[in-house]
Amino acid sequence: MSGANRQPQGEPVLEIRDLNVNYGLGEEGVHAVRDVNLTLHRGEVLGLAGESGSGKSTLAYGMLRLLPPPGVITGGSVLYHPRDGEPVDLLTLSTSRLRGFRWSEIAIVFQGAMNSLNPVHTVATQLCDVIAAHEPRTTRSARVARAKDLLKLVGINSDRLGSYPHQLSGGMRQRVMIAMALALEPRVVVMDEPTTALDVVMQRQILAQLVELRERIGFSVLFITHDLSLLVEFSDRIAIMYGGRIVESAPAAELYRQSLHPYSDGLLHSFPALHGPRRELTGIPGSPPDLRAMPTGCPFHPRCPRAFEPCDDQMPALTPQGDRDREVACWLHSERSLRSEHRSRTELAE
Ligand code: ATP
Ligand code: SF4
Ligand code: MG
Repeated sequence: MSGANRQPQGEPVLEIRDLNVNYGLGEEGVHAVRDVNLTLHRGEVLGLAGESGSGKSTLAYGMLRLLPPPGVITGGSVLYHPRDGEPVDLLTLSTSRLRGFRWSEIAIVFQGAMNSLNPVHTVATQLCDVIAAHEPRTTRSARVARAKDLLKLVGINSDRLGSYPHQLSGGMRQRVMIAMALALEPRVVVMDEPTTALDVVMQRQILAQLVELRERIGFSVLFITHDLSLLVEFSDRIAIMYGGRIVESAPAAELYRQSLHPYSDGLLHSFPALHGPRRELTGIPGSPPDLRAMPTGCPFHPRCPRAFEPCDDQMPALTPQGDRDREVACWLHSERSLRSEHRSRTELAE
C-alpha cells in the first residue's frame, strides 16, 4: 500500500465525544448524528466513510459549528488541543475565539468547494485575502510570495497566480482550495469529499500529494468520502458511519485485511481488490435507513446477511476489540455474544 498506513499514532488533537446533531427540533427533527465518539491524532490521516446520507458532512460541520440551519447540536463535546494552552471545547467556545481557530488551527475544504472560489477574483487575490484576514500585518509582497509557495506546494505552477477560476481545470481549482486551507499552516485539515467531482486519476494524485504534504508539514487530516478504496490506500485509520453512528473504526490496513462489521465488509466488497487475489464484488443489498424511521435494534439488521437473534431488537454498542486499536458495534463481536457463545460451548461440553 502506498501513501500513509505507516504513521504511528500520536497525541490526540481533536476528540469528539458523544456528539449528537439534529436537523429541526422536536418530533419532526431528523437525528442525523448519534452519539459519535471519534479521536483524531497528531499527524494522522483519519478517513471517514459511509454511504450517502450516513451523516459524514453533518458530523464534520457540527464539530466545527458550521451547520446550516435547521441543524442543531443536541449534545456532546469536541475537545481541541491547541498549539499552546489547555484543551478547549469547540462547542462552548466564544464565537470570536472559535473564529480565531478556524483556518489558522483548523481548516476545512467543503464538499464541492472547487465551485466556491470567487469567479471575479484571481487566484492571487483570493489566497492573499485569506493570509491578510489572519495576518493583517504582512506586506502585499510577502503575501504574494506566500501565495506562490502555496501553489507550488499543491503542484500548481506559480505563473497561475494571475488566473481567474474559470481559466483553471476542475483539478486545479480543487488544489487552489486545498492551498487556501493550508495557507495558515493549520494543525487540522478537514476535507469533505474534496475530490468527488474529479476523475479517478486526479483524485488519487491530489490525495497522494496531501499525504506527502502531511508528512512534510505535519498536520492531521480528517478525510471524508464514500469511496472506501481511496481511504484504504491513503489513510492511517478509517471510521465507518451508518445511519448517523460510527459502526467500526480500525487501522486502515487491518480494516482492509479483515473488517469486523458486516456493513464495512459490504463497502469493501463494493470495489475491486487493490492487491492480491481478485475477490467477488457483492455490494450491499437494500438501501440506507430512513433517519425518520430507524429500524429497531441494530440499524443495519434489515440489510445484514449475518443478522441473528439479538439484532432486530437490541442495539449493539461500539466496543473495543481486545488490546488492538479497533472498535466495532456488532453483536457478532460484543461481549454479550462472546458470553453466549461461551455458554453454549460450556453447555455442549456438559
Ligand atoms: P453524502 O455522502 O451524500 O455527502 P453525508 O454522509 O455527508 O452524505 P449528510 O449530508 O451529513 O450525509 O446528511 C445526513 C442526513 O441528514 C441525511 O439523511 C440528510 O437527508 C439529512 N440532512 C442533511 N442536511 C439536511 C438539512 N439541511 N435539513 C434536513 N435534513 C438534512
Ligand atoms: Fe449484522 Fe447483527 Fe452485527 Fe447488526 S449486530 S451488523 S445485524 S450481525
Ligand atoms: Mg456529505
